[in-house]
Amino acid sequence: MNSVFSKFISSVFLDRCLHCTIDLAQGESFLCCFCEAMVVRPLPTTQVEDSLTAITSFVGASLKKDGPTETLVHALKYHSGRGIGRKLGLEIALNNPNIISPDVLIPVPIHHKKQFKRGYNQSLSIAEGLGERLGVPVCSNAVKKICNSKSQTTLSPEERRLNVEKVFSWKKGLDPRIRHVGIVDDVITTGATALALAKLLKTHYKELDITIFAAAMAQE
Ligand SMILES: [Zn+2]
Repeated sequence: MNSVFSKFISSVFLDRCLHCTIDLAQGESFLCCFCEAMVVRPLPTTQVEDSLTAITSFVGASLKKDGPTETLVHALKYHSGRGIGRKLGLEIALNNPNIISPDVLIPVPIHHKKQFKRGYNQSLSIAEGLGERLGVPVCSNAVKKICNSKSQTTLSPEERRLNVEKVFSWKKGLDPRIRHVGIVDDVITTGATALALAKLLKTHYKELDITIFAAAMAQE
């Protein structure tokens, strides 16, 4: 953690690559072109969940242990990296030129206590970058997280599903003209969090098309 932290500090204050710490050239942001070239960019996938229609996930990058994407995501979560979120959002769009733009983007909410501690919601900053690129508005007050669920990292896939099932609640209705919603998450591990939110949306709007966008997908 300390080494990632010192990388982050040197990147922010000295314009160095967040991952390898060499000086950044003009036009590079957060990562140098060499580290950028190491980023593995997966193709979009489609899955069918329960009674939901097919949900397509668009991902910016694969999360490889000790790779540059892991450095970015870590800095995004733990070191107030709003600009990094926007960069990751832009990259989802760059990695997937055939995205069908949704009518609105809804970032996965975090509990207000966590948001207060962190200062921002990392999925919102990703949604802002993606929305800017696609020309799609971001709606961050449609749903809220109602309990501060424990960290997902030590749970089995089944435990994760149960853990997130009842953690979101509806805050305000969507514009009735909205037909297609993009859910934006930071990292997809099992997809349980984003799918729980998709289910909540489908309970209220059965005809809604839903696409999931994530900055990174964890590799097995
Ligand atoms: Zn680098």
